[in-house]
Amino acid sequence: MKLDLNNLTIHQARDLLVRKEVSSLELTQAALERVHQVDSRLGAFITVTEGLALEQARRADRRLGQGEGEALTGIPMAVKDIICTKGIRTTCGSRMLENFVPPYDATVMAKLNAQGSVLIGKLNMDEFAMGSSTENSAFFISRNPWDPSRVPGGSSGGSAVAVASGEALFSLGSDTGGSVRLPAAFCNLVGLKPTYGLISRYGLVAFASSLDQIGPLTRDVADCALVTQVIAGYDPHDSTSLPQPVPDYSQSLIPHLKGIRLGVPREYFGQGLQPEVKTIIQAAIRELEGLGAEVDWEVSLPHTKYALAAYYILNPSEAMANLARYDGVKYGFSAPEAADIWQAMEQTRGLGFGPEVKRRIMLGTYALSTGYYDAYYLKAQKVRTLIRRELDALFDRFDALITPTSPTVPFKLGEKVGDPLQMYLSDVCAVSVNIAGIPALSVPAGFADGLPVGMQIIGKPLSEAILFRIGYAFQQATDWHKRTPHLEDCQ
Ligand code: GLN
Repeated sequence: MKLDLNNLTIHQARDLLVRKEVSSLELTQAALERVHQVDSRLGAFITVTEGLALEQARRADRRLGQGEGEALTGIPMAVKDIICTKGIRTTCGSRMLENFVPPYDATVMAKLNAQGSVLIGKLNMDEFAMGSSTENSAFFISRNPWDPSRVPGGSSGGSAVAVASGEALFSLGSDTGGSVRLPAAFCNLVGLKPTYGLISRYGLVAFASSLDQIGPLTRDVADCALVTQVIAGYDPHDSTSLPQPVPDYSQSLIPHLKGIRLGVPREYFGQGLQPEVKTIIQAAIRELEGLGAEVDWEVSLPHTKYALAAYYILNPSEAMANLARYDGVKYGFSAPEAADIWQAMEQTRGLGFGPEVKRRIMLGTYALSTGYYDAYYLKAQKVRTLIRRELDALFDRFDALITPTSPTVPFKLGEKVGDPLQMYLSDVCAVSVNIAGIPALSVPAGFADGLPVGMQIIGKPLSEAILFRIGYAFQQATDWHKRTPHLEDCQ
């Protein structure tokens, strides 16, 4: 039987590489070939680094040939275009940074490079990571390989499409309010939003700094644990990085859940949740029960209803401050013809930013302005504390909480992009996790009419090992994650 080089997990590819049954060059060529076949339709990549990829693959093969190499040596991967790559354009999905070439690598990139993994390219995203569908990219939309008339989720849509369609074996995204988990769920992948501070944000273009985290998108939980192992850890370049050793996550990959206590918060199963999604997640929870977990189906998190509103105050407030650096002077786009510095700044921002970015700047400016600060920003901060405390208290009784990742299956392109409130509602299951700084893992849990549904496993700070254990056991008992999309419609 001919090996399908595009749909291997990292651990399968690693075994083949070590046994010399396949070379990194072959894996890389297969990935690039897939990009040539499907990407003009799917739109995962903003930049394809073909020459570099082939060179890195040859280098990886030499290293492997000498019996050297590590977990990710020679593995083709790709990263969201918000993560700085030295000498490689990093656009953030924006005209503002269309020609920006970073002079340094993000720490996560440096770590992947040190392992010798192979960069296929930089991935499409909502402009400055603002969005839930990847329709806010300044360049082009991305399509869901499971149904190209639907969105892949966002803002890390390209990151999900690339892995789901076999253009890379794993990818990195960023998650400020669900942007790794939502696309993972929509494209039948595993996605991790790690504990705030676990993975360095040095070289991640800042969006909302108290919420932003980088996270992997992979084909299974074992791969997710592997990539997290490599990219996590203290980094003196990021003042929010936690000075903690990273545990050996491979130890947590065991096939049962005896002794694990799970809570099911009812607020995540109410209004707005599609009935098919509810049925699938409930069946998945019963599966977890069958694996030995003790489940309390009647847990409550009453402040959940304020989370989305608080998020959409905190997020624009921080975004507005972070975006002040794009003034046409320091870097990025600069309006060519202006009479004075004020006009230059106005035109730079007027032309350089798309509509959602402008909306966030206005929302944030409003929420922070004198007279409104107390009513909005300060209040949202208080809600943040309440949400965090409420979750903390539950984690005395539970090892993890189980919810849907998204209230709906992937929606149609164009369905929500004209209605910001509808778009923001896609994040309703995701944002409490960012607000509280805690980790959450999304894993494939089933299909509704051929469209993937993701289950979210939420834990207390630094409980990634437990989340991996739960997700791994679930994947030993189910095969949803093994399904791959038919790409005939995508060429
Ligand atoms: N959809 C959310 C927003 O637009 C989340 C974005 C993200 O996680 N980067 O703010």
